[in-house]
Amino acid sequence: VVKAGTPLEECQKAAADHGLFLALDLGSRGSCQIGGNLSTNAGGIRVIRYGMAREQVLGLEVVLADGTIISSMNRMLKNNAGYDLKHLFIGSEGTLGIITRAVLRLHPPPGEITTMLVAVSSYDQVVTLLRRAQSELGGVVAFEAMWRDYFAFNADALKLTFFDAAHAFCVIIESTGPREAIEEFLAACLQETLIDDALIAASHAQAREMWSVREGHPIEVLPNLLNFDVSLPIGMIGDYAKACTAALKARWPQAHVSFYGHVGDSNVHICVSTLYAPGEDMHSVDDIVYGVLGHYHGSISAEHGIGTLKRPYLHLSRSPQELALMLSLKQSLDPKGILNPGKVI
Ligand SMILES: Cc1cc2nc3c(=O)[nH]c(=O)nc-3n(C[C@H](O)[C@H](O)[C@H](O)COP(=O)(O)OP(=O)(O)OC[C@H]3O[C@@H](n4cnc5c(N)ncnc54)[C@H](O)[C@@H]3O)c2cc1C
Repeated sequence: VVKAGTPLEECQKAAADHGLFLALDLGSRGSCQIGGNLSTNAGGIRVIRYGMAREQVLGLEVVLADGTIISSMNRMLKNNAGYDLKHLFIGSEGTLGIITRAVLRLHPPPGEITTMLVAVSSYDQVVTLLRRAQSELGGVVAFEAMWRDYFAFNADALKLTFFDAAHAFCVIIESTGPREAIEEFLAACLQETLIDDALIAASHAQAREMWSVREGHPIEVLPNLLNFDVSLPIGMIGDYAKACTAALKARWPQAHVSFYGHVGDSNVHICVSTLYAPGEDMHSVDDIVYGVLGHYHGSISAEHGIGTLKRPYLHLSRSPQELALMLSLKQSLDPKGILNPGKVI
């Protein structure tokens, strides 16, 4: 049971102190708080195995706009007694109520995690690798793909070299399976030319180096960098990335466009630096990224929510009927519009 203002990392440590595991984990673990994690339904790097923040919650306490305290501190996995009210507030970005406490669901610790970096030459092979790893490795807890431009930019800036050659895709896989099985799996994939190269982290420090490329702080120096967080069916992500890059480069030939993401849970992040001239409308980048996404029926927000910036584009991912129901919920729970006004809807 945690208060909403508890930092995520503190919750993870408290669980570990009791020999248990809180599955939610993301880059901002040291600064973000449980209330923020739940109100944004944060995703992170363990979604493929454990689900998003929503799945880590059994109960919730919320204060409504009129001051009513809804204490729904359920501790059972099963409880179908009426509406599951907690889900109204998880992911609604503080627009329907203020979360004050939560009952988090803990798991047994996953055991020793092996981190590996795998080089692959096409997106189709990335998807095949994902399916094979899930069925043959057992215990895949992370699967993070990086397109060439993203990997090369960050690895160069960090002065890290993992392979002799550049590859179209590099994938971080984390598995709790036995080390021997992992080695056999990678050897078989190499022999079948499903993968081009592979490296198993020899130490915690080397695993951290792999993750530092994925976390990608160096790319933040690119001028006017815009970050996008979209989702679409896994099999379509490769085509979307190509179409989106082509559309952006047609408009800004010098643009730096790169992709990375959780892929295994249908999420891809896009970094766009157009180097555009001062005064140019930044929304023209949004229009292209979301416009191409519309052709693939993707979602404009996989895990970062809507806030105020993406509100004008919400209709691209939600039907008029869905939007009307959202508005009706908002009006019913917050008729004076005092909770995070202007956000989401
Ligand atoms: C380095 C980094 C990496 C990240 N990686 C990921 C990732 O992998 N996956 C992912 O999903 N996200 C990621 N994020 C974004 C992430 O969702 C947020 O960092 C985090 O979940 C939000 O928590 P916070 O405490 O920072 O909330 P804030 O940013 O303070 O708030 C977020 C929203 O929630 C509302 N809110 C906050 N507390 C409450 C409350 N108690 N009740 C109701 N509403 C509330 C706020 O009003 C705001 O609208 C990352 C962010 C950073 C900086």
